[in-house]
Amino acid sequence: MRLFDTSYGKILERVDQVNPVAYGRTRNFIDGAVTYLSPYISRGVISTKMVLKHVLNKGSDPGKIEKFIQELAWRDYWQQIWIEKGNEINRDLKHPQPDVDNTEMPAAIVEANTGVEAIDRAIRDFYETGYLHNHVRMYIAAISCNMGKSHWKVPAQWMYYHLLDGDWASNALSWQWVAGTTRSRTYVANQDNINKYCRTTQKGTFLDVPYDAFDDFSIPEELRDTMVPKLKTELPETPALDLEPNLPVCLYNFYNMDPTWRQEIKANRVLLLEPEVFDQYPVSRNSIDFLLKLGQNIAGLKVFTGSFDDFVNEYQPAEIYFKEHPLNHHYRGTEDSRDWMFSVKGYYPSFFSFWKKCKKEL
Ligand SMILES: Cc1cc2nc3c(=O)[nH]c(=O)nc-3n(C[C@H](O)[C@H](O)[C@H](O)COP(=O)(O)OP(=O)(O)OC[C@H]3O[C@@H](n4cnc5c(N)ncnc54)[C@H](O)[C@@H]3O)c2cc1C
Repeated sequence: MRLFDTSYGKILERVDQVNPVAYGRTRNFIDGAVTYLSPYISRGVISTKMVLKHVLNKGSDPGKIEKFIQELAWRDYWQQIWIEKGNEINRDLKHPQPDVDNTEMPAAIVEANTGVEAIDRAIRDFYETGYLHNHVRMYIAAISCNMGKSHWKVPAQWMYYHLLDGDWASNALSWQWVAGTTRSRTYVANQDNINKYCRTTQKGTFLDVPYDAFDDFSIPEELRDTMVPKLKTELPETPALDLEPNLPVCLYNFYNMDPTWRQEIKANRVLLLEPEVFDQYPVSRNSIDFLLKLGQNIAGLKVFTGSFDDFVNEYQPAEIYFKEHPLNHHYRGTEDSRDWMFSVKGYYPSFFSFWKKCKKEL
């Protein structure tokens, strides 16, 4: 079972260990050479651009590692959609999800009790590690939305809650991709496919059917019980902050924990945890603990639980710096841009139209 180091040195070691060629060959297998970098990219400790630069500096030929670069680009693609569409990504983006039976989620997913061994094992591990392989995320989303016929939003929130790499753009929009609200197809996988990529040999499950059975699929008994999981964020209570007067404030948050950011200036460094943001996008205790541990990489970081306005009213900082993010529209101060791999910006209705433009810059 994999646990995630939080020291910046160890994170950089992990970046250095990426094998983008093996990645391209094996990434779909649950024991493939995936990077496990997403918790650090999602929390803004490192960027997709930094990972790409590092891999290219080590001598990789972009033409031979295209799959790897493409996967990194998916992250930037989803973020660009969040920037452009804002809260619209919280609803079916292009057209309604087909064949919805309920707006809850299968209890068997929450309870790791679908009867599909590879999935149940992955969910049990997930509660401990906060990580799921991409293919397993796709299977879970397909089982919830396309076999259990739950609308995507509740199960997406459940997954986001437990992920250490929770990134609402990648999350909501990947769930929508599987559920068929951003394209004209849904994603389905049968037991043979799961057996192949999860190295199992199971037979006789509700997924042990040929693909054409999914054209007219009734909700299997195993997925009939549904529920809405209780998702509540426990934020730390924070004492009054001892800030240095007259120094600017660098504001960190759930999506920006970059220890290299504006290190050239002397500043108060404050991690802002806004209850309203976490009410809308709840995360687990594990996720908050992980965030706080990542904070140890930022010298002198102080934590403030409260809204941006509460913070400003209480401390009246001379100047505030923050990084651009769709959840920061209400911040006031100097906005720094984020690092992107390519200069391609804005909404592209399909990843491949976005990628075609990005590729020209490689
Ligand atoms: C239903 C569903 C929900 C998801 N929710 C999230 C989420 O909340 N947060 C999140 O970070 N990713 C999410 N993903 C995308 C993807 O599964 C993870 O980024 C990836 O599995 C993370 O593991 P890794 O770092 O080992 O990835 P690797 O396979 O090693 O990929 C390297 C990096 O490329 C990027 N990447 C790879 N695949 C994708 C992808 N499909 N979409 C976007 N970026 C990608 C990530 O930054 C990742 O760290 C979701 C995918 C699905 C299907």
